[in-house]
Amino acid sequence: MRKKIIAANWKMNMTVGETEGFFKPFLLELGGEKQVEVVIVPPFTSLAKAGEILRNVQNVKLGAQNMSAEKSGAFTGEISAAMLRELFVRYVVLGHSERRTIFGETDEIVNKKTHAAHAATLRPIVCIGETLAERDGNQVEAVLEKQIRGSLAGLSADQLEETVIAYEPVWAIGTGRTATPQQAQDAHAFIRRKLTELWDAATADKVRIQYGGSVKPANTAELMSQPDIDGALVGGASLDPRGFAEIVLATVKLAN
Ligand code: PEP
Repeated sequence: MRKKIIAANWKMNMTVGETEGFFKPFLLELGGEKQVEVVIVPPFTSLAKAGEILRNVQNVKLGAQNMSAEKSGAFTGEISAAMLRELFVRYVVLGHSERRTIFGETDEIVNKKTHAAHAATLRPIVCIGETLAERDGNQVEAVLEKQIRGSLAGLSADQLEETVIAYEPVWAIGTGRTATPQQAQDAHAFIRRKLTELWDAATADKVRIQYGGSVKPANTAELMSQPDIDGALVGGASLDPRGFAEIVLATVKLAN
């Protein structure tokens, strides 16, 4: 049984003050819920504050939105895995489509970062997904396969098990246009088949594959009840503490 994982990608939102304001109502709504893994992914500047608030909270983990593949040195503006570890960060989102399209991150770069994350015992959440033009051109499977082969190259079976994959169709991110549960399930099943082919069935069966793209309280249950959807990476809707708690709790309900 794969434990579902719901992550809040705050992107370039939430100052330190706003981060403080988020947690009180969010933790109150969430209560002691432990059946679903919850990860909050604030901007770098809010990680220390979030880590401080979450120090004695067992059921919410901390993630970062990006990191450098390098260990240290002359890389102005970059953040290393060790810096994140020091702030009690457990997960790191890598290869988000905004990083790929706006900042030119390639599968090769994402792959280097994925290896660097594992080397530092950070769990990567590796994002993949097709554009609308690629979907319209019947390229979904070819694009996903290329991203899987490129971004996850060279991972051992143990490392793959500790990696979360986020399937995020680019056309559904921040657009209000969600993939249908069947479209998402089909893509997730394809990803798992590819992992089986490239690693093995037992390993592929353990990998958690999140769906991301305009997830909100109203569409959570239908998406999360698909057999190969193991959680969500939530952008816009994760900025509202009560709404995000609703997404988590709707997912918890399915586990019972
Ligand atoms: C994301 O940023 O990963 C995302 C899925 O955003 P949204 O939920 O706003 O579509």
